[in-house]
Amino acid sequence: MARRAADNGRMPDAPRAKSAPQKAMERLGLLRDIDLALHLPLRYEDETQLHPIAHTRDGQTAQVEGVVREAQVELRSRRQLVVRLADDSGEITLRFLNFYPSHQKVLARGQRVRVRGEVRGGFLGREMVHPTFKAVEPGAPLPASLTPVYPSSAQLPQVYLRKAITSAMARAPLDEVLPPAAIPAGLPPLKEAVRLLHQPPPGLPLSTLEDRSHPAWQRLKFDELLAQQLAQAQAVAARERLHAPVMAAATGPASLHARLRTALPFALTAAQARVCAEIDADLARPIPMHRLLQGDVGSGKTVVAALAAARAIDAGWQCALMAPTEILAEQHFHKLVQWLQPLGVTVAWLTGSRKGKARKAMLAQIASGEAGLVVGTHAVIQDDVVFSRLGLAVVDEQHRFGVAQRLELRHKLVETTGGALQAPQHGTGVERANTQAGAQSPGATSSAARLEPHLLTMSATPIPRTLAMTYFADLAVSTIDELPPGRTPIVTKVFADSKREQVIARIRDELQQGRQVYWVCPLIEESEALDLQTAIDAHAMLSAALSPWPVGLVHGRLPPAEKAATMAAFAAGELRVLVATTVIEVGVDVPNASLMVIEHAERFGLAQLHQLRGRVGRGSADSVCVLLYRNPLGDIARERLRIIFESQDGFEIARRDLQLRGPGELLGARQSGLPMLRHADLDRDAELVECARDLAAGPLAAQPERAAPIVARWLAGRGAFAQA
Ligand code: ADP
Ligand code: MG
Repeated sequence: MARRAADNGRMPDAPRAKSAPQKAMERLGLLRDIDLALHLPLRYEDETQLHPIAHTRDGQTAQVEGVVREAQVELRSRRQLVVRLADDSGEITLRFLNFYPSHQKVLARGQRVRVRGEVRGGFLGREMVHPTFKAVEPGAPLPASLTPVYPSSAQLPQVYLRKAITSAMARAPLDEVLPPAAIPAGLPPLKEAVRLLHQPPPGLPLSTLEDRSHPAWQRLKFDELLAQQLAQAQAVAARERLHAPVMAAATGPASLHARLRTALPFALTAAQARVCAEIDADLARPIPMHRLLQGDVGSGKTVVAALAAARAIDAGWQCALMAPTEILAEQHFHKLVQWLQPLGVTVAWLTGSRKGKARKAMLAQIASGEAGLVVGTHAVIQDDVVFSRLGLAVVDEQHRFGVAQRLELRHKLVETTGGALQAPQHGTGVERANTQAGAQSPGATSSAARLEPHLLTMSATPIPRTLAMTYFADLAVSTIDELPPGRTPIVTKVFADSKREQVIARIRDELQQGRQVYWVCPLIEESEALDLQTAIDAHAMLSAALSPWPVGLVHGRLPPAEKAATMAAFAAGELRVLVATTVIEVGVDVPNASLMVIEHAERFGLAQLHQLRGRVGRGSADSVCVLLYRNPLGDIARERLRIIFESQDGFEIARRDLQLRGPGELLGARQSGLPMLRHADLDRDAELVECARDLAAGPLAAQPERAAPIVARWLAGRGAFAQA
């Protein structure tokens, strides 16, 4: 193993090319001594004892030592090396289907070897297939501790990794930085815990190590969770040092906010009123808001966003509202125009497909500040869009954007405000400033203040509590936990595809009663063409079966104008049936639709199914969601259908989704390749999560000299993740 630089614990730039194992270690993220020290065993092998051959049992993993009596290559169905090994108690056969001359040399007749493997007690006597083996001198000492087996890769042999870890452990900075009182009772100091896990003494019950319940494991997991919490706390602190426009609540009936509330055709639910107040309080602070508004499908998040926008506009700032798809953006646009235009607000509309003159005109409105609200897709933050004074950004359905996209969004917001990027502090890389805003701000008290917009994200996929605490501590969360009155529960039915005819009969019933119907086809990411074909086939089939009622079709390949026209016709009730790929998944709002059929429901994820189903049940009619599945059904798909059938509660569904998939996918982190927690498990270690959070928020909050080494050892180079 190469010598390491002592000062920073990093591999020195190798004068020679790196060896394959070195490269493999780097790929595993094992760069520093501390990374190696925190790379913990998956399991252990007990090589501390020798078993007399005669006492080994069928199925037992045993270590025996003996002298080779006989070794020969046999040609049965395959060429194989067969070795007879004997100790004082008896004999055992060792069988190797793959072997090299070097093996034969060690296993030659008369050699003493130590062998470890699973014993099979066959009719012809005991044998081991492919045991590990090594030549030993008589009386060679046995290891004093269990032998760790590490997560590794093909290019990185265990022996190499073991040596690297043992030597790194001696140098790694593992000194305890926590006062004893801060460590949960019964857990050992960190260094002790690390040593024990790498080199457990013989006689320690393996089960508590392997199921990770041993106090040493708990200590490690606690440290990791603490690092995560501290990193989050640092992100909060970094944000609190930034400045944002103060949007004091404008009072009086003349304010846009008051006029909008009066003009709304409904009263806010208590939950909506509560979250509005939470958002207002944030907007009135000189620190950028970073708040997630979560609420089940149909809970009425859009109006909350509109009221926040009204606050911003009242205070003399612009607001941008972004949605992940054009259709959703357009829905928002129509609704917001309907609400705000009569009150004198100019609402601009920007999507990728809007080009040429129309786009230029919009850009001018945005740059001059004439447009108070800008609605659109990501086009809103494209390079050539410059705001006069962006004060609030709202991102709808933020869970649909991956971690990387969300980070990009925050970077882009910097550019759109026309501000200059500050040098990133503390590696967060998202600080931004608006050099002109101080002068432009109607309410700015200090002309030197560099301002950045408030950020409100919205999602119908709730973040489970432990996940929120671990990854989103930097995020304030508001929850709408109540649906507007008059909603009808949705009945969910699950049918095999063979029941199609009955389903179509049901569609006819709905149409006769003046209702509207969605027919959803799956989006198959790998095969857009196949996806398209499913939708086209369904459209043809339904057009024929439901004639003379007109059936519309929207899918991802349609030109946006055509898509929009079809959606508008459906919203207006001219089209009574709409066949769609998942483009309607989010945000579409047609209260007269009372039946949704989802084809190939087994291909959809839980969150998707829940969101889709939420498109019906928005009016007063009883609503039904029919899930058609095609056999054969896999276990997970069956479980998903069962969950969606049993529950209508988005929180409950998200919780079970998390169990089914694990947190990585839920966060969209898996595709980004960013590492999640290495050792701790949010579900199983919920208690430790709470302890870590209390410590990070309490005693450690004011002790950066203690926090820094904890964060550094676990999270160096991973800080950006905390910002997404
Ligand atoms: P989501 O939270 O899924 O985005 P929307 O904002 O699209 O929900 O709202 C769903 C529907 O409920 C819309 O038609 C909206 O106008 C309506 N709505 C919102 N708030 C209320 C309310 N307090 N009372 C009645 N209807 C409401
Ligand atoms: Mg919505």
